[in-house]
Amino acid sequence: MVYITFSRNIFIPVTNVCRNECGYCAFRARSCEDAYVISKQEVLNVLQNKGAATEALFSAGEKPELAYTDLASFFKTRLSLSGAQSFSLVRYTKELCRLAIKHGLLPHCNLGLLSRDELMELRDVNASMGLMLETTAGLRLEAHKRSPGKDPFLRVQMIEEAGKLEIPFTTGILVGIGEDKEDRIRSLDAIESLHEQYEHIQEVIIQPFVPKQSTTMCEVEQPGFEEMKETVRIARRILHDEIAIQVPPNLTSPKELIELGASDLGGISELTIDYINPESPWPRERELASKIAPFELRERLPIYSRYIEKGWYSEEIRPVIEKFIKSTGSLYR
Ligand code: SF4
Repeated sequence: MVYITFSRNIFIPVTNVCRNECGYCAFRARSCEDAYVISKQEVLNVLQNKGAATEALFSAGEKPELAYTDLASFFKTRLSLSGAQSFSLVRYTKELCRLAIKHGLLPHCNLGLLSRDELMELRDVNASMGLMLETTAGLRLEAHKRSPGKDPFLRVQMIEEAGKLEIPFTTGILVGIGEDKEDRIRSLDAIESLHEQYEHIQEVIIQPFVPKQSTTMCEVEQPGFEEMKETVRIARRILHDEIAIQVPPNLTSPKELIELGASDLGGISELTIDYINPESPWPRERELASKIAPFELRERLPIYSRYIEKGWYSEEIRPVIEKFIKSTGSLYR
Protein backbone atom coordinates (compact mmCIF):
# COMPACT_ATOMS: atom_id res chain seq x y z
CA MET A 1 0.00 0.00 0.00
CA VAL A 2 1.28 3.47 -0.92
CA TYR A 3 0.51 6.01 1.79
CA ILE A 4 0.19 9.70 1.02
CA THR A 5 1.01 11.78 4.03
CA PHE A 6 -0.15 15.08 5.44
CA SER A 7 0.26 16.98 8.67
CA ARG A 8 -2.58 18.43 10.76
CA ASN A 9 -1.51 21.94 11.50
CA ILE A 10 -2.53 25.37 12.60
CA PHE A 11 -1.08 28.23 10.57
CA ILE A 12 0.18 31.24 12.53
CA PRO A 13 1.32 34.23 10.42
CA VAL A 14 3.61 36.11 12.81
CA THR A 15 3.84 39.24 10.67
CA ASN A 16 3.29 40.30 7.07
CA VAL A 17 6.01 42.95 7.28
CA CYS A 18 8.81 41.93 4.91
CA ARG A 19 11.98 43.50 3.55
CA ASN A 20 11.46 41.86 0.12
CA GLU A 21 9.03 42.80 -2.65
CA CYS A 22 8.46 39.62 -4.65
CA GLY A 23 6.42 40.27 -7.78
CA TYR A 24 3.89 37.49 -7.05
CA CYS A 25 3.31 38.10 -3.35
CA ALA A 26 -0.01 39.35 -2.00
CA PHE A 27 0.90 38.42 1.57
CA ARG A 28 3.36 41.21 2.41
CA ALA A 29 2.14 44.52 3.80
CA ARG A 30 2.31 47.46 1.39
CA SER A 31 1.80 50.06 4.11
CA CYS A 32 1.24 50.38 7.86
CA GLU A 33 -2.52 50.29 7.20
CA ASP A 34 -2.45 46.68 6.06
CA ALA A 35 0.49 45.54 8.25
CA TYR A 36 0.13 43.35 11.31
CA VAL A 37 2.13 41.53 13.95
CA ILE A 38 0.21 38.78 15.68
CA SER A 39 -0.14 39.30 19.43
CA LYS A 40 0.50 36.62 22.04
CA GLN A 41 -3.17 36.71 22.94
CA GLU A 42 -4.17 36.00 19.34
CA VAL A 43 -1.76 33.09 19.26
CA LEU A 44 -3.16 31.77 22.54
CA ASN A 45 -6.69 31.97 21.13
CA VAL A 46 -5.68 29.76 18.21
CA LEU A 47 -3.70 27.36 20.39
CA GLN A 48 -6.62 26.90 22.75
CA ASN A 49 -8.71 25.68 19.82
CA LYS A 50 -6.07 23.45 18.28
CA GLY A 51 -8.35 20.42 18.02
CA ALA A 52 -6.43 17.41 16.67
CA ALA A 53 -3.53 19.47 15.24
CA THR A 54 0.01 18.29 15.92
CA GLU A 55 1.94 21.09 14.21
CA ALA A 56 2.12 24.85 14.74
CA LEU A 57 3.35 26.38 11.49
CA PHE A 58 4.88 29.82 12.04
CA SER A 59 5.37 31.87 8.92
CA ALA A 60 6.42 35.51 8.47
CA GLY A 61 7.75 38.10 6.10
CA GLU A 62 11.54 38.04 5.87
CA LYS A 63 13.65 40.27 8.14
CA PRO A 64 10.86 42.77 8.97
CA GLU A 65 13.41 44.75 10.99
CA LEU A 66 14.96 45.70 7.61
CA ALA A 67 11.73 46.68 5.83
CA TYR A 68 11.49 50.29 4.71
CA THR A 69 11.44 52.79 7.59
CA ASP A 70 7.70 53.16 8.37
CA LEU A 71 7.04 49.42 8.24
CA ALA A 72 10.13 48.57 10.29
CA SER A 73 9.03 51.05 12.99
CA PHE A 74 5.50 49.66 12.88
CA PHE A 75 6.94 46.18 13.42
CA LYS A 76 9.04 47.26 16.39
CA THR A 77 6.21 49.22 18.01
CA ARG A 78 3.85 46.27 17.70
CA LEU A 79 6.40 43.92 19.20
CA SER A 80 6.84 46.12 22.23
CA LEU A 81 3.04 46.46 22.66
CA SER A 82 2.81 42.70 22.51
CA GLY A 83 5.18 42.42 25.49
CA ALA A 84 8.00 40.86 23.46
CA GLN A 85 11.39 40.75 25.17
CA SER A 86 13.22 42.27 22.18
CA PHE A 87 12.72 43.82 18.73
CA SER A 88 13.70 40.69 16.89
CA LEU A 89 11.38 38.51 14.80
CA VAL A 90 13.41 35.45 15.73
CA ARG A 91 13.29 36.08 19.48
CA TYR A 92 9.58 36.89 19.40
CA THR A 93 8.79 33.80 17.35
CA LYS A 94 10.81 31.74 19.79
CA GLU A 95 8.51 32.95 22.57
CA LEU A 96 5.51 31.95 20.43
CA CYS A 97 7.03 28.52 19.72
CA ARG A 98 7.31 27.98 23.47
CA LEU A 99 3.61 28.79 23.86
CA ALA A 100 2.84 26.20 21.15
CA ILE A 101 5.00 23.57 22.88
CA LYS A 102 3.23 24.32 26.16
CA HIS A 103 -0.04 23.58 24.36
CA GLY A 104 1.25 20.23 23.09
CA LEU A 105 2.14 21.23 19.52
CA LEU A 106 5.33 20.77 17.52
CA PRO A 107 6.50 24.07 15.97
CA HIS A 108 7.75 24.36 12.39
CA CYS A 109 9.12 27.81 11.50
CA ASN A 110 9.53 29.30 8.06
CA LEU A 111 10.67 32.88 8.62
CA GLY A 112 12.66 33.44 5.43
CA LEU A 113 16.44 33.79 5.40
CA LEU A 114 18.08 33.22 8.78
CA SER A 115 21.72 33.32 9.87
CA ARG A 116 23.44 30.38 11.54
CA ASP A 117 23.01 32.08 14.93
CA GLU A 118 19.30 32.56 14.30
CA LEU A 119 18.90 28.92 13.27
CA MET A 120 20.64 27.93 16.48
CA GLU A 121 18.33 30.18 18.46
CA LEU A 122 15.25 28.48 16.99
CA ARG A 123 16.52 24.91 16.70
CA ASP A 124 15.55 23.79 20.20
CA VAL A 125 11.97 24.98 19.87
CA ASN A 126 11.29 23.50 16.42
CA ALA A 127 10.56 19.96 15.29
CA SER A 128 11.65 20.96 11.78
CA MET A 129 12.16 24.17 9.86
CA GLY A 130 11.76 25.35 6.29
CA LEU A 131 12.84 27.74 3.56
CA MET A 132 11.73 27.57 -0.05
CA LEU A 133 14.75 27.68 -2.32
CA GLU A 134 12.20 28.79 -4.98
CA THR A 135 14.73 28.87 -7.81
CA THR A 136 18.43 29.11 -8.41
CA ALA A 137 17.58 31.59 -11.21
CA GLY A 138 17.31 34.15 -8.40
CA LEU A 139 17.72 37.87 -8.90
CA ARG A 140 17.84 37.77 -12.70
CA LEU A 141 14.08 37.11 -12.65
CA GLU A 142 11.81 40.15 -12.77
CA ALA A 143 9.85 38.59 -9.87
CA HIS A 144 12.89 38.85 -7.59
CA LYS A 145 14.46 42.13 -8.73
CA ARG A 146 13.44 43.89 -5.49
CA SER A 147 14.01 40.94 -3.18
CA PRO A 148 17.58 40.72 -1.89
CA GLY A 149 16.60 37.71 0.21
CA LYS A 150 15.85 35.67 -2.92
CA ASP A 151 19.54 35.49 -3.80
CA PRO A 152 19.92 31.74 -4.40
CA PHE A 153 23.44 31.74 -3.00
CA LEU A 154 22.15 32.97 0.37
CA ARG A 155 19.26 30.53 0.36
CA VAL A 156 21.44 27.54 -0.45
CA GLN A 157 23.81 28.71 2.28
CA MET A 158 21.01 28.75 4.88
CA ILE A 159 19.76 25.30 3.86
CA GLU A 160 23.34 24.09 4.20
CA GLU A 161 23.69 25.60 7.69
CA ALA A 162 20.46 23.85 8.70
CA GLY A 163 22.05 20.58 7.54
CA LYS A 164 25.20 21.21 9.56
CA LEU A 165 22.99 21.89 12.59
CA GLU A 166 21.00 18.66 12.01
CA ILE A 167 17.66 20.42 11.60
CA PRO A 168 15.07 18.34 9.70
CA PHE A 169 14.23 20.60 6.79
CA THR A 170 11.56 21.40 4.21
CA THR A 171 12.36 23.28 1.04
CA GLY A 172 10.91 23.55 -2.43
CA ILE A 173 10.69 25.28 -5.77
CA LEU A 174 8.15 27.68 -7.25
CA VAL A 175 7.05 26.79 -10.76
CA GLY A 176 6.11 29.54 -13.21
CA ILE A 177 7.75 32.71 -11.83
CA GLY A 178 9.86 33.27 -14.96
CA GLU A 179 12.33 30.42 -14.55
CA ASP A 180 12.66 27.71 -17.20
CA LYS A 181 13.02 23.94 -17.16
CA GLU A 182 16.83 24.12 -16.91
CA ASP A 183 16.52 26.40 -13.86
CA ARG A 184 14.20 23.89 -12.23
CA ILE A 185 16.65 21.08 -12.87
CA ARG A 186 19.49 23.17 -11.41
CA SER A 187 17.39 24.01 -8.33
CA LEU A 188 16.49 20.35 -7.73
CA ASP A 189 20.12 19.31 -8.28
CA ALA A 190 21.21 21.88 -5.68
CA ILE A 191 18.72 20.52 -3.14
CA GLU A 192 19.76 16.95 -3.86
CA SER A 193 23.43 17.71 -3.36
CA LEU A 194 22.69 19.43 -0.03
CA HIS A 195 20.80 16.33 1.08
CA GLU A 196 23.59 14.08 -0.18
CA GLN A 197 25.93 15.89 2.18
CA TYR A 198 23.76 16.44 5.27
CA GLU A 199 20.77 14.05 4.89
CA HIS A 200 18.42 16.62 6.40
CA ILE A 201 15.81 17.24 3.68
CA GLN A 202 12.42 15.76 4.63
CA GLU A 203 10.42 17.05 1.72
CA VAL A 204 10.60 19.21 -1.37
CA ILE A 205 7.52 21.22 -2.28
CA ILE A 206 6.67 21.61 -5.96
CA GLN A 207 4.49 24.70 -5.80
CA PRO A 208 2.76 26.33 -8.75
CA PHE A 209 2.79 30.11 -9.05
CA VAL A 210 -0.74 31.47 -8.68
CA PRO A 211 -1.38 35.01 -10.02
CA LYS A 212 -2.92 37.33 -7.45
CA GLN A 213 -4.80 40.60 -7.73
CA SER A 214 -2.83 43.63 -6.57
CA THR A 215 0.55 42.12 -7.49
CA THR A 216 2.77 43.10 -10.42
CA MET A 217 2.41 39.55 -11.77
CA CYS A 218 -1.40 39.47 -11.68
CA GLU A 219 -1.54 39.13 -15.50
CA VAL A 220 1.06 36.38 -15.75
CA GLU A 221 -0.36 32.99 -16.60
CA GLN A 222 -0.28 30.18 -14.09
CA PRO A 223 1.86 27.19 -15.17
CA GLY A 224 -0.14 24.55 -16.98
CA PHE A 225 -0.81 21.18 -15.38
CA GLU A 226 1.49 19.47 -17.91
CA GLU A 227 4.33 21.65 -16.62
CA MET A 228 3.54 20.59 -13.06
CA LYS A 229 3.50 16.95 -14.10
CA GLU A 230 6.82 17.29 -15.88
CA THR A 231 8.38 19.00 -12.84
CA VAL A 232 7.20 16.30 -10.44
CA ARG A 233 8.55 13.65 -12.81
CA ILE A 234 11.93 15.40 -12.96
CA ALA A 235 12.00 15.92 -9.20
CA ARG A 236 11.35 12.23 -8.57
CA ARG A 237 14.18 11.34 -10.91
CA ILE A 238 16.67 13.75 -9.30
CA LEU A 239 15.85 13.54 -5.60
CA HIS A 240 16.87 10.77 -3.26
CA ASP A 241 14.06 8.25 -2.61
CA GLU A 242 13.78 9.18 1.06
CA ILE A 243 12.92 12.80 0.20
CA ALA A 244 9.16 13.19 -0.11
CA ILE A 245 7.82 15.30 -2.95
CA GLN A 246 5.09 17.53 -1.63
CA VAL A 247 2.30 19.06 -3.72
CA PRO A 248 -0.15 21.53 -2.14
CA PRO A 249 -3.68 20.11 -2.53
CA ASN A 250 -5.29 23.58 -2.43
CA LEU A 251 -3.21 24.82 -5.40
CA THR A 252 -3.11 21.83 -7.69
CA SER A 253 -4.85 18.58 -8.40
CA PRO A 254 -2.86 15.98 -6.44
CA LYS A 255 -3.84 12.56 -7.77
CA GLU A 256 -2.03 12.61 -11.11
CA LEU A 257 1.02 14.13 -9.43
CA ILE A 258 0.97 11.30 -6.89
CA GLU A 259 0.98 8.83 -9.77
CA LEU A 260 4.18 10.53 -10.95
CA GLY A 261 5.95 10.34 -7.60
CA ALA A 262 4.54 12.93 -5.19
CA SER A 263 3.80 11.40 -1.79
CA ASP A 264 3.05 14.24 0.62
CA LEU A 265 0.36 16.90 0.78
CA GLY A 266 1.93 19.12 3.43
CA GLY A 267 0.09 20.76 6.27
CA ILE A 268 -3.64 21.21 6.15
CA SER A 269 -5.77 22.94 8.74
CA GLU A 270 -9.39 22.78 9.76
CA LEU A 271 -9.01 25.81 11.98
CA THR A 272 -6.87 28.34 10.12
CA ILE A 273 -6.56 29.42 6.49
CA ASP A 274 -3.56 29.34 4.15
CA TYR A 275 -2.53 32.95 4.74
CA ILE A 276 -0.20 32.95 1.74
CA ASN A 277 -2.99 31.73 -0.58
CA PRO A 278 -6.15 32.82 1.24
CA GLU A 279 -8.26 32.47 -1.93
CA SER A 280 -7.51 28.72 -2.04
CA PRO A 281 -9.06 26.86 0.90
CA TRP A 282 -7.57 23.53 1.91
CA PRO A 283 -9.82 20.56 1.17
CA ARG A 284 -11.26 18.81 4.22
CA GLU A 285 -9.59 15.57 5.17
CA ARG A 286 -12.44 13.39 3.92
CA GLU A 287 -12.58 15.26 0.62
CA LEU A 288 -8.83 14.87 0.23
CA ALA A 289 -9.03 11.14 0.92
CA SER A 290 -11.62 10.70 -1.80
CA LYS A 291 -9.69 12.90 -4.27
CA ILE A 292 -6.59 10.71 -4.05
CA ALA A 293 -8.25 7.26 -3.77
CA PRO A 294 -7.16 4.48 -4.15
CA PHE A 295 -4.02 5.94 -2.57
CA GLU A 296 -4.45 6.05 1.19
CA LEU A 297 -4.09 9.17 3.28
CA ARG A 298 -1.99 8.96 6.42
CA GLU A 299 -1.19 11.59 9.01
CA ARG A 300 2.43 12.37 9.87
CA LEU A 301 4.24 14.65 12.28
CA PRO A 302 6.26 17.70 11.20
CA ILE A 303 9.37 15.66 12.05
CA TYR A 304 9.79 12.43 10.08
CA SER A 305 10.42 9.16 11.90
CA ARG A 306 13.98 8.81 10.60
CA TYR A 307 14.92 12.05 12.39
CA ILE A 308 13.14 10.91 15.56
CA GLU A 309 15.23 7.74 15.39
CA LYS A 310 18.40 9.78 14.86
CA GLY A 311 17.52 11.97 17.85
CA TRP A 312 17.47 15.19 15.81
CA TYR A 313 15.28 17.03 18.32
CA SER A 314 15.76 18.87 21.58
CA GLU A 315 14.92 18.03 25.17
CA GLU A 316 12.43 20.88 25.01
CA ILE A 317 10.19 19.19 22.45
CA ARG A 318 10.90 15.61 23.52
CA PRO A 319 7.77 15.37 25.77
CA VAL A 320 5.50 16.43 22.88
CA ILE A 321 7.05 13.90 20.50
CA GLU A 322 6.80 11.17 23.15
CA LYS A 323 3.17 12.03 23.79
CA PHE A 324 2.35 11.57 20.10
CA ILE A 325 4.32 8.34 19.87
CA LYS A 326 2.44 7.00 22.88
CA SER A 327 -1.00 8.00 21.65
CA THR A 328 -0.66 7.03 18.00
CA GLY A 329 2.27 4.83 17.14
CA SER A 330 1.35 4.87 13.48
CA LEU A 331 1.63 8.62 12.89
CA TYR A 332 5.08 8.55 11.46
CA ARG A 333 6.47 8.51 8.03
S1 SF4 B 1 7.01 36.00 -0.95
FE1 SF4 B 1 7.86 36.04 1.12
S2 SF4 B 1 9.81 37.07 0.88
FE2 SF4 B 1 8.64 37.57 -0.95
S3 SF4 B 1 7.60 39.51 -0.44
FE3 SF4 B 1 6.21 37.85 0.10
S4 SF4 B 1 6.56 37.50 2.27
FE4 SF4 B 1 8.32 38.63 1.48
